[in-house]
Amino acid sequence: MKTFSYARAHDAAEAVTGFTPGTMYLGGGTNLVDLMRLGVAVPDRLVDVSRLPLDGIGFAGETLHIGAAVRNSDLAAHPLVRTRYPMLARAVLAGASGQIRNMATVGGNLLQRTRCPYFQDISRPCNKRQPGSGCPAIEGDHSNLAIIGHSDHCVATHPSDMAVALAALDANVYVTGPAGDRVITMPGLHRLPGDTPERDTILEPGELIIGVELPPPPPGPSSYRKVRERASYAFALVSVAALLDVADELIRPRLPAHHGVSKRGHAGQLPGAAPA
Ligand SMILES: Cc1cc2nc3c(=O)[nH]c(=O)nc-3n(C[C@H](O)[C@H](O)[C@H](O)COP(=O)(O)OP(=O)(O)OC[C@H]3O[C@@H](n4cnc5c(N)ncnc54)[C@H](O)[C@@H]3O)c2cc1C
Ligand code: SF4
Repeated sequence: MKTFSYARAHDAAEAVTGFTPGTMYLGGGTNLVDLMRLGVAVPDRLVDVSRLPLDGIGFAGETLHIGAAVRNSDLAAHPLVRTRYPMLARAVLAGASGQIRNMATVGGNLLQRTRCPYFQDISRPCNKRQPGSGCPAIEGDHSNLAIIGHSDHCVATHPSDMAVALAALDANVYVTGPAGDRVITMPGLHRLPGDTPERDTILEPGELIIGVELPPPPPGPSSYRKVRERASYAFALVSVAALLDVADELIRPRLPAHHGVSKRGHAGQLPGAAPA
């Protein structure tokens, strides 16, 4: 593994102002450290954001605010999430193992990299890892990869279960960075590969996820279903997050939220980001 330096940020502002090219943020490390061991990620410097005071879950008015440093296990077990957003709890519990969920953070889960086997093997070409080198998955092993939304350059999928539920719930992702704060409505955080598969998301260098905001859920049933190769932990072959908006015994059509909208705001003031 390449030599790197390590620093722990005490607040979001310190993490962002200390960002330099070659820096990567470290959440629980359950994905990033693996990629560093494989030589896929080669940061010069890690800034640990896993212990920022962004580990609260709580309502601010009608919306539920979840700090980016909340561990996946704590999110799935939280009474407000289990009772008001059971689909999200199910999605999180469908991901990884108990030990990994104990370490993994909300921010890190949303920004984990694809599980495409060629992306993780530095002896093979891969347009996502090395733009222009090719995509062996198109003719090779793509059993876990995309059947829609792919391109001639990349057929990878994003592996987060949580992101699927957050997209169905019209979640807002709060971000702060060198150019200021902004709010991104899911599923607008993630990009399709197109001809620039090296970019998974619309985030700019140095941008830090500080939290997620959930609007009130519609008054109907919801569920998360995941099909995978084995019942113990495995990534999804396909997954569905579904919720019904029911009124007067009728299912109401839902207009999609302003997906992809990214507006400048006061992300640093995300309520609920402090320990609840
Ligand atoms: C064996 C195994 C099975 C798994 N199965 C599943 C599964 O079925 N479903 C699923 O959804 N996940 C699964 N995972 C993935 C696991 O959930 C992720 O590894 C985890 O969520 C990543 O979170 P982390 O906090 O450890 O992120 P890290 O590994 O620390 O970071 C991941 C990325 O996010 C960036 N980052 C971290 N925090 C922030 C932040 N606040 N702002 C900006 N950037 C940030 C890092 O720089 C890095 O690029 C599995 C993992 C393993 C090892
Ligand atoms: S599918 Fe994407 S990540 Fe996988 S080898 Fe092709 S370019 Fe790389």
